[in-house]
Amino acid sequence: MSETLKIAVQKSGRLYEGSMKLLKECGIEISNGNNQLRVLASNFPVEVFFLRDDDIPEYVQDSVADIGFVGENVVYETKKQVDCIEKLGFGKCRLSVAVPKNGTLKTTTDLNGRRIATSYPNILSSYLEKAGINATIHEISGSVEIAPRIGLADAICDLVSSGSTLFTNELKEIETILSSESILISNSNLSDEKKIILESLLFRIRSVKKAKNNKYVLLNAPNNKLDIICKLLPGMKSPTVLPLAESGWSSVHSVINESDFWNVIEKLKANGAQGILIIPIEKMIV
Ligand code: ATP
Ligand code: ZN
Repeated sequence: MSETLKIAVQKSGRLYEGSMKLLKECGIEISNGNNQLRVLASNFPVEVFFLRDDDIPEYVQDSVADIGFVGENVVYETKKQVDCIEKLGFGKCRLSVAVPKNGTLKTTTDLNGRRIATSYPNILSSYLEKAGINATIHEISGSVEIAPRIGLADAICDLVSSGSTLFTNELKEIETILSSESILISNSNLSDEKKIILESLLFRIRSVKKAKNNKYVLLNAPNNKLDIICKLLPGMKSPTVLPLAESGWSSVHSVINESDFWNVIEKLKANGAQGILIIPIEKMIV
């Protein structure tokens, strides 16, 4: 029987939807959702294991799963021997130090001699060591944000995305110690057959990611501005230019990077571009 690649995914929680959506966008059909521990894909040689996120690095290290989708925060905290292969673009958050909003602590040096509550003792202690701060770490597994109010700690080190949990608990961030997103981790000793499946999965993941970072642009340009407009929109090879029925005008089609988007659009308008349409791209193969 030919091999399947075993993928560990969070069973439920913040990474579940992003992980399943990515597999779907890669054309991989997984039926039955997360009601089962493991599900075989119907059209690609992978099997998905649904697990607690904290256990994923260990299972991948120990070959229970071949690869996993998990937050960088968990990978660095658990210190398992796995290969970090590819950032996945979802589950973005940061691990930050926060202190009571109206208290006396203002900067990280004020943490000397203080107590910090966290679920990330390893990442925090290596940060404190590097920063030369001598503080006591109180490891707690959940609801870290209430620790200062109940007198358990002077500060906290916890995951933040919007900051609303900190806000409701009258805490403010004073330092980000790690920026995190979901990554694909892999066992270091995959068989050649599994490596081939992983390469094919990675090709799909990269095409999906690239498409998300780019948009398709269509616009009408006066012919005397075509040179400059084409320079603003180099696209994948070069833009497509087609004549409009109205003489003196052309239609320009290209691809634009999300990060340059607003900047370039302004320049296009300043150079006489009209009727600019921006269209999402589903997959992008370069
Ligand atoms: P499990 O039951 O699987 O152990 P959990 O409660 O530990 O779940 P979640 O709260 O679902 O985990 O978070 C999973 C991951 O989502 C985190 O490890 C982190 O990488 C990411 N994440 C993104 N934003 C946030 C946030 N604001 N707070 C916590 N985690 C976040
Ligand atoms: Zn967890």
